[in-house]
Amino acid sequence: MTTIDDPTAAHDLGPEPDAGPPDRISPLGQALREATAGRWGHVRDRARRTLPVELMQRDPGLTMPQARDWTRDTLATLTGRGFTTSGYPVAYGGMDDVGRSAVDFEMCAHGDLSVTIKSGVQFGLFGGAVASLGTQWHHDTYLRDIVTLELPGCYAMSEIGHGSDVSSLETTLTYDEETDEIVVHSPTASSMKAYIGGAAVDARMAVVYGQLVVDAQSHGVHAVMVPVRDEHGQALPGVALGDHGPKGGLAGVDNGTLMFDQVRVPRRMLLDRYGGVTSEGDYVSDIDNPNRRFFTMLGTLVRGRVCIAGAGAVAGRRALSIATRYATQRRQFSAPGHDGDVLLIDYLAHQRKLLPRIAQAYALMFAQNQIVDRLQDLHETDNKDQEAQRELETRAAGLKAVSTRFGNDTIQVCREACGGAGYLAENGLTLIRRDADVFATFEGDNTVLLQLVAKGLLSNYKEMFGDLDMFGMLQFAARSFGGAVIERTAARPVIDRLVEATRVGSGGDPLHDRGWHVEMFEDRERHVLETLATRLRRAAKNSDDSFEAFNSAQDHVLLAARAHMDRVVLEAFVQGIEDCSDPVAQDRLSRLGDLYALSSIEADSAWFQQHNRLSATRSKAVSAAINELCRSLRPDAVELVEGMGVPEEWLNSSMLVEPHWTP
Ligand SMILES: Cc1cc2nc3c(=O)[nH]c(=O)nc-3n(C[C@H](O)[C@H](O)[C@H](O)COP(=O)(O)OP(=O)(O)OC[C@H]3O[C@@H](n4cnc5c(N)ncnc54)[C@H](O)[C@@H]3O)c2cc1C
Repeated sequence: MTTIDDPTAAHDLGPEPDAGPPDRISPLGQALREATAGRWGHVRDRARRTLPVELMQRDPGLTMPQARDWTRDTLATLTGRGFTTSGYPVAYGGMDDVGRSAVDFEMCAHGDLSVTIKSGVQFGLFGGAVASLGTQWHHDTYLRDIVTLELPGCYAMSEIGHGSDVSSLETTLTYDEETDEIVVHSPTASSMKAYIGGAAVDARMAVVYGQLVVDAQSHGVHAVMVPVRDEHGQALPGVALGDHGPKGGLAGVDNGTLMFDQVRVPRRMLLDRYGGVTSEGDYVSDIDNPNRRFFTMLGTLVRGRVCIAGAGAVAGRRALSIATRYATQRRQFSAPGHDGDVLLIDYLAHQRKLLPRIAQAYALMFAQNQIVDRLQDLHETDNKDQEAQRELETRAAGLKAVSTRFGNDTIQVCREACGGAGYLAENGLTLIRRDADVFATFEGDNTVLLQLVAKGLLSNYKEMFGDLDMFGMLQFAARSFGGAVIERTAARPVIDRLVEATRVGSGGDPLHDRGWHVEMFEDRERHVLETLATRLRRAAKNSDDSFEAFNSAQDHVLLAARAHMDRVVLEAFVQGIEDCSDPVAQDRLSRLGDLYALSSIEADSAWFQQHNRLSATRSKAVSAAINELCRSLRPDAVELVEGMGVPEEWLNSSMLVEPHWTP
């Protein structure tokens, strides 16, 4: 075991002047970066200045074994530089700065996503489980080695048979009173742990989830630490390890399988913060309700979801940074009055592909900053407000779903926006596309997460026990839901002022009136939620089959979650615009805010028209306003992507021959 005399030593990056020069960007790009910097803007700046480009770019031509080696080495270097472990307590080599750790992760995602995910597995999932589900003994015994990468680990939750439905895991963790041990066993073929990052090659220890059985009684899903490899990399007795081999992406992450044949570990290896076994062999937990206990344990995943939300959005921003720069360099077809062939960015169709997505990227940056703030605030609070915690978990689930959806859709659009060049690996987009793809699936499948959001809304975060039981959802709709109250976000005072101004009648063009945007989003959310509750109530009354009752409204459930998240993200954007102190940057943000809101209204115009919120004439005006906003933002297209914070040198795209701006 390593000892660290000075626990903060790993993070001593040297004095600020040693850092490299800031990347060369335009004054507007810089002002936009500052406007979106958030509480940890200095961490972002520092990463941009100090991380060398070779740590951020993986050669897309590496074979899988080479990619795994490169990823492992790069992660070790980044860890040595203190870029991966800031969320851990100072006593174990971290900085006890949870917010910063989410931002560090986001900065890592500006580079290679295999390194990012490998880091997430070691420090977020494996180490995170030990930190949040373990107690003092686990912390003192393991956290230092986890933080220094001396003890590489994996997080073995998913099984072949059950991925999203974690409560039904089949692995058993049976307490043996005779020997005071936990017996870890995979009783069926479908109980094989699958997809597990680190299982194929590197992990020496696993946090294994399974059903805890004490005295022949099951107490639901718990987690236990199980050594799986010796120091030479050989599987330990009773542990069968497999390698998934090549995947759709993330070539540098060694995903694999685990099976256990009556593997015994001492009782104290059980991560027993929320439930454990006494030396007398009794099961004990401070949380009596098994569903609530399970949900509390899963709640510790919240940081991972916040991190993947950030990384998914960054993947989209990287793609936009490449495609937008390319669009200002690439010409196709001549046109009268044009000096040479027309630049791609001058085509309205091209502007329509890129600029509304840039607007959405900004919206998500502000929303991400807000959730990281909230994560840190709750982390710092001694007396945890359970409702606030549930709200954070719900919002993290929702933001993870919308940000990774944004990332994946945007990357594909950007790939196509670069034509054949976009399809060449040397231009950067195909690797991002491959690697970000699975973000929609892990850390919670997006469809499943959106259902959790709807459940949180229906229950008003009060009684969200269990993971995703349909019966519970119906009960909430039937009992607790007495009309939709739009819940507060941090931006509420600003929002109230804007909405009030709209109601009084500012006399301006409503299409560019932020109060009107907010009202439209709120109205949609409230209506969708109220009608969902009514529909579920009616279905529950007319059917004994809770599955059928819930399933018949599942489209509506997902719509409610999306409408909610759209409003939450818009409010974060509105607050960001208000807070911007640079007038030029504020003007551009303001136009981007309009573009984000109007694009969402346009995408949902059928709903707004069907529900008499938008006339056909106003709907046409919305589309015309979007075209006009695209036209007006086009001259600043590159400055807008500079503001999104991805340094040009990190883009790893051969086709971007002309650096945009030199002082
Ligand atoms: C590259 C990679 C790395 C991973 N790393 C890890 C790891 O380190 N540790 C770990 O424990 N796990 C890991 N996972 C597993 C991951 O968390 C699961 O794949 C994920 O939870 C989804 O589970 P599943 O694959 O069983 O999909 P399923 O749950 O079978 O979902 C399949 C489809 O069914 C839909 N669906 C499922 N339930 C519902 C429902 N109730 N209503 C409507 N639609 C539904 C989903 O939306 C999805 O489209 C990893 C996966 C991958 C691909």
